[in-house]
Amino acid sequence: MIILAVLCLSFFSCSEAKLPPQTEYVFGTVCTVNMFDDGTAELYADVFSTLKNLDDKFSVNKNDSEISRVNQNAGVSKVEISSDVFELLKLSKLIAGKTDCAFNPVLGALIQLWGIGTERQAVPDSAKIERAKKHCNPDSLVLTEDGGAFFAELTDGETQIDLGGIVKGFAADEVVKILSQKNVQKAVVDLGGNIYVFGQKDKDKNRKWRIGIKNPDGETTEPVKIVSVDSGSVVTSGNYERFFISDGIRYHHIIDGRTGFPAESGFSSVSVVYEKSVFCDALSTAYFVGGEKADFVQNLGLKDVQLIFVKNDGTVIEQSY
Ligand code: AMP
Ligand code: MG
Repeated sequence: MIILAVLCLSFFSCSEAKLPPQTEYVFGTVCTVNMFDDGTAELYADVFSTLKNLDDKFSVNKNDSEISRVNQNAGVSKVEISSDVFELLKLSKLIAGKTDCAFNPVLGALIQLWGIGTERQAVPDSAKIERAKKHCNPDSLVLTEDGGAFFAELTDGETQIDLGGIVKGFAADEVVKILSQKNVQKAVVDLGGNIYVFGQKDKDKNRKWRIGIKNPDGETTEPVKIVSVDSGSVVTSGNYERFFISDGIRYHHIIDGRTGFPAESGFSSVSVVYEKSVFCDALSTAYFVGGEKADFVQNLGLKDVQLIFVKNDGTVIEQSY
């Protein structure tokens, strides 16, 4: 009897059709997930609905997202948020503290002013930059818990949250939780270049995953470097991702809160390799602003982290911790 039940179970699970990699547009970018031999329609639907759910909560481009509601109530009142929004806001504040605000979750006033990647992108008036710069203090974001409910409040009426520099990393880690729960053997999660390679690539030969770091010059298709990873995340922040050119100057989407301008640290891109994508994402943004001498990884107490800096002249600097 027992044997029969086991046989039936394995028969039904094997009979589910396996799908090729699936792609959908989420977080304003192209997201592709490949679950190889485990990729059923049900699992892909589970993963993509999780991603869309997160985008609905975190996006500053959706008026009714939880983050937008906190922003709309800046200087007015606290807003109830869900536990995952609370968790990511809390971590973002912690990372801001450990990176000297090179990664700053409340740069929204400056980010909106520049509007990079939108139709209104332009070099803002310097008085407006100076003004917005004064409203980017993470201490203005107050997080509280009360009887199992979570709240966020912006105590400064001109401060705005923007989690564009960390949310895809957080989302990749959430997908990995599903993959583990569902016993998926291996997968590649690509959220607009924010990569997570999960599981062992090849059990027999014990081969590692190989991920190419894009050549920022945009002309060469050859990667500047190939990183080998057992299982983990590789995230790149680059000045070629979103930008506009005005009077021959390139203005890109990673903002230095100290100057109020796109970061000028001399890099075209910074990549971070680590087991948690949320840290890769935040740190790639932070190191792009802070440069290769910054000690953010040490401040956060992380180990087994690899950093790859591509300088504007094409030279590559690598660091391992
Ligand atoms: P990434 O491509 O991960 O480096 O993130 C860039 C996005 O994060 C931008 O499009 C903004 O939404 C936001 N952002 C820009 N500058 C910063 C910064 N210094 N700290 C945190 N988020 C930022
Ligand atoms: Mg980032």
